[in-house]
Amino acid sequence: MSIKDPIKTRELEASIRINSFNEVVLGYTEEEALKEASRCIQCPDPTCVSGCPVGIDIKKFIYQITQKNYKGAYLTIREKNNFPSICGRVCPAEYQCRKNCIFTKKDAPFASEKAINIHFLERFIGDYGMSEIRKQKTDVGKQMSENKEKNKKLTSNIHNMLSKYKVAVVGSGPAGICCAGELARSGVKVVVFESLHKLGGVLSYGIPSFRLPRDILDFEINSLKKLGVEFVPNFLVGRIKSLEEFFEEGFVSIFLGLGAGTPSFLGIPGENLCNIYSANEFLTRINLMSAYKFPDFHTPINVGKSVVVIGGGNTAIDAARVSLRMQKLSKFRPNTTILYRRTEVEMPARRLEIHHAKEEGVQFQFLVQPIEFLPDENDYVKKVRCLKCELGEPDSSGRRRPVTIKDSEFNVDSDLAINAIGLNANRILTSVTPDLKIDKYGDIIVNKETMQTSIDGVFAGGDIVGGEGTVIEAMGMAKKASEAIIDYIIRKDIL
Ligand code: FAD
Ligand code: SF4
Repeated sequence: MSIKDPIKTRELEASIRINSFNEVVLGYTEEEALKEASRCIQCPDPTCVSGCPVGIDIKKFIYQITQKNYKGAYLTIREKNNFPSICGRVCPAEYQCRKNCIFTKKDAPFASEKAINIHFLERFIGDYGMSEIRKQKTDVGKQMSENKEKNKKLTSNIHNMLSKYKVAVVGSGPAGICCAGELARSGVKVVVFESLHKLGGVLSYGIPSFRLPRDILDFEINSLKKLGVEFVPNFLVGRIKSLEEFFEEGFVSIFLGLGAGTPSFLGIPGENLCNIYSANEFLTRINLMSAYKFPDFHTPINVGKSVVVIGGGNTAIDAARVSLRMQKLSKFRPNTTILYRRTEVEMPARRLEIHHAKEEGVQFQFLVQPIEFLPDENDYVKKVRCLKCELGEPDSSGRRRPVTIKDSEFNVDSDLAINAIGLNANRILTSVTPDLKIDKYGDIIVNKETMQTSIDGVFAGGDIVGGEGTVIEAMGMAKKASEAIIDYIIRKDIL
């Protein structure tokens, strides 16, 4: 079978884009989308669908693109995914749908370059839908933003009954806003409580705007507001109010989309030296608090001349690319290096972002394990002491385990270090809610079918359930939970 070459997307040139936080990937034009869609061979049994955590009918929406039926394609995607413009930009499709595309070799660690660019097509359609909704504001837009599948199932009587009830959603990340949207479309009143002053969870404080422009997130949040969802920012549930108090106030059910916002630390000497950030703090200061515009904005950030970022996931790549831009803005020579204890193949970050980081000048040192931070005379970090590693047997994640090599110490110069080795559950709420069962990592234990927690009426989804995952996985869990919450309300109403 001869495979046509994939259609690349337009991108800002690396030397230009590192001077700003403008979006890097510019997406397909209509002509490009049509060409890429025409590469899909419409397999009788499309394997890509099983790779998508929410099971979008990929074959159908790509066919609809080839027929220029963009509205149909939008509705097809929206049956399963409420935020195609977001997922089309951030989904690690090379590990999900594209990895299962027929053009990827079986057992390959990630998608082949020849695999259909499903995510770019989804982005094209998501952006088309967004622009139609913005333009028309009325019928077509309304029709498009409805979840047709759900509305077909719900009779108007049930819709009216559901509108008597209100549900509290804790957290405004992908899980929280997805659950809120599903419930609101079914008629339920929803109030979302968010501890930060801005909404969106990682989409807002973690992922930089050069990957996900904020007007897209704002559009989605505003659409939810138009549906009647109420948002209460600056509200830390567990401190300001307990779950019990929500029930006392008349909320019939609660969804917990708390995420995994607590950084892991290396636990090595010198970790408390000045100029060592967790990636979460570094990214939050810049993305959420506009520290790159200090002093026009109140929050400052230190910029290093020689920065190391420790880790190999999306967070590490984001932190490194942001650091590089901060160095450019500060008129320093860009000098940011990622230290990772395995090799590039084992890096969990999106392949596209690794490629972009390299293009922009981020340097990589593989098979390196930091063992100590060394100070200067003012207790600022000056060097990172490391050991070389080699790959051993696979661990529980299936990736080959890094094994340190004896007597292989060496130092890396660094006046600012960013720790991006992983994120864990935040225990603020769970620690004051003893009836809420958690596992040894602090993740909330749920019934995987319904996302019901150990407390009656309380459901959970997203990173607080499975640990660090992906945006679409969080949304998939939230969708499942929203269905279970509706069943729960219906049962409550009947009894
Ligand atoms: P979150 O997005 O973490 O949202 C949880 C929200 O709950 C937060 O806003 C938090 O403030 C709030 N909250 C927590 N506790 C309380 C409380 N007690 N009261 C009130 N509010 C509370 N995934 C991808 O698919 N693609 C990517 O490219 C990608 N890049 C990433 C880059 C970074 C830097 C990071 C950190 C993660 C990335 N991920 C990516 C992972 C993805 O963002 C997460 O899997 C996803 O955001 C999880 O969604 P969530 O709603 O469960 O949690
Ligand atoms: Fe692929 Fe993500 Fe779209 Fe699913 S949501 S089809 S995994 S890009």
